[in-house]
This record gives sequence, C-alpha cells and structure tokens, in this order.
Amino acid sequence: MMIIKRRVTRNFFVGNVAIGGDSPVSIQSMTNTDTKDVKRTLNQIRKLYHVGCEIIRVAVPDEDAAMALKTITKLSPIPVIADIHFDYKLALMAISNGVSCIRINPGNIKNKSKLEEIISAAKDVDCAIRIGVNSGSLDHQLKKKYEKEISKALVESALSYVNFFEGKNFYKLKVSLKSTDVLTTISAYEEFSKLSDIPLHLGITEAGTKLVGTIRSSIGIGHLLLKGIGDTIRVSLTADPADEIIVAKEILKSLGLRELGPVLISCPTCARREIDVIHLAKLVEKELAKMTANIKVAVMGCPVNGPGEAIEADIGVAGAKTGGIIFKKGKVIKKISDFNLLVKTFLTELKKLEKEWRRSKK
Ligand code: SF4
Repeated sequence: MMIIKRRVTRNFFVGNVAIGGDSPVSIQSMTNTDTKDVKRTLNQIRKLYHVGCEIIRVAVPDEDAAMALKTITKLSPIPVIADIHFDYKLALMAISNGVSCIRINPGNIKNKSKLEEIISAAKDVDCAIRIGVNSGSLDHQLKKKYEKEISKALVESALSYVNFFEGKNFYKLKVSLKSTDVLTTISAYEEFSKLSDIPLHLGITEAGTKLVGTIRSSIGIGHLLLKGIGDTIRVSLTADPADEIIVAKEILKSLGLRELGPVLISCPTCARREIDVIHLAKLVEKELAKMTANIKVAVMGCPVNGPGEAIEADIGVAGAKTGGIIFKKGKVIKKISDFNLLVKTFLTELKKLEKEWRRSKK
C-alpha cells in the first residue's frame, strides 16, 4: 500500500490539538451561528465535535461577538479560533477572552504597530496565529506584478507577513493561501511549502454547494495531501458545517492519513443488480455513522459478483432477488432468503464486528 510521506513542519499546539510535525492532519470547521448567541454557537460546536470536528473557528465581526468568546472558549469541547477581519481591537479582545488561535489577514490590518500589538498579546498567552492570505484581498501592487500568476502573489504576500511576524520573534504561525481557483490554490501551497516549514492550513475558499464544493475541495485538498502538504484542513461548503466534517474525514480516510471509523464501499449497480442498492447503502451508511471501528464495509447489488468485487471488505452484504448473502473478506458466511431479515442480520453482524474491534483495541 502506498504511504504518503508528509512534509516536515514545525510543530506546536492549538489548545490541546497538535499541529505540524508528525501530528495527524487535523479537521476544522466554522460555525455559522451568530457568535454573540452563545447558546446556539456552543450547541453547534458540540454537534460538530460529536461528528469529528477537532478545532472550531468562529467569526468575530464586532465587540459583542468578541465578548461572547469568553464563555464560548470556556465551555467549548475543542479549541476555538477567532476569525478577525480589519479591526485589530477585536483580535486583542479575542486573545484576552481565551481563544487558542486567531486567524487574520494582515493585509486587512495595514498598520504595523497594530500588528505588533496583536503579536505581543498572542505571545503573552501562547496563542497561535494563522496568517490567511486570500486572492480576493491581495495588495494591488502584488496583483499588478503577478498579473497572470496569482499563486506567486499569494506566496510573496504570505512570506512578507511571515518575515514580519518572525522578525518580532513570533513563530507559532500557520499559513493559508486561498483562492477560489483550485489550480491557483494548489500552485500557491506547493510553492510556499518549498520555502517554509510553517504548518499549512488547507482549504479551497468558497468551494460551493455540497456536491460541487465536495468535488473541488477533494481535488484541491486531496492533491496537496497526497504530496505530503497540509497539516490541518477545512472543507468549505455552502451546507451544514457537519457535512464539512464528514467530507474532511472521508478525504483523510481515502488517503490513509487518518483512521476515523468505518469506510463504506458500495457498487455503482448495473444490469445484474438484484436489489435497490441505493436504499440499502443509505441504510448501512446511517448505521456506520454511529460506529467508530476502522473497518471496511461493502454493499453490493448482486450475489454472484459482489463478494469478489469487494474482496478487501471486512464485511459485506450483497442482495439477491430473494434475500441475499453476507460475506467477510469475500467468503460467504450467511445466505438469507428474506430481504428484511438480511438487513437485520447484517446490522447485527456489523455491531458484532464493532464490538470485536473495540475489544482488540483494549
Ligand atoms: Fe453490477 Fe453486481 Fe458489480 Fe453491483 S456488484 S456493479 S450489480 S455486477
């Protein structure tokens, strides 16, 4: 099996989550509640935590939101990052209200002395800073200089900020270089990773709705991870943030970078299909969402080819005209002549496997 060799980056902690070095690629999302509505924001953070979110970012558009961070950071089960635009005072408030990291685009806070104040406050409480460079807010001169190579402008912009921060002896830095264009984003990250050991936060900005955004993020983030680039990821979707976590987990599982619960494989169906595979796959997927075992599960449309096609699955089900079969590693373990009983038996077998897996981990 191919193993991805990850780029060596400097490492530090954001709250209790290790970033960079050889620590696992972490999963982030962002709340879409009104941050000053502490109850709703915390509810969403907890929900995201339960589906696998490891670090959460919240937007801090005004002082009320910055004040709300005091309670949010205290009660959040995962480290909180404050997303700041333009107003350095909000960054200072967020830092003093307990965030583990702030995300700023220094291009939006032009005054260097204000940036120095942020650096000094972050140093005092060991807060990390993500420098988020974005193609939409690049310096005019840089845009002009690299008219057709925006990726180069992103890299130059990020490096100039990094130099400024490191010049003030601040090293707990992450960088993101985002563009809505997948290829520009890929080039920028590839170029930057050759020039710096700073951990990289990957994402395709404004990727789109659930399906399109998933595809664009999987291509962009997946390509970079495959090359060993990337220390923490956020899949941006115009959808429920919980979907971002599910997609991020599937990207990491697909590349063998994290073991994050079961992997479902299901056949695309063809003329040999003997059952409603879509219905059965959805049913099994729902059940797998509650499980943590790192097992491969197959849902196949016919009993003749199904077990063979899914030979690498730890357990699988293949439907037949009447009932179907259950198999493990390609070998049939049960033949059942009634479909409902087949589903029930398969779900019981799945739960048994989950228990065995848990026992083996003790
Ligand atoms: Fe077709 Fe059967 Fe293969 Fe599914 S498992 S794609 S139904 S041959």
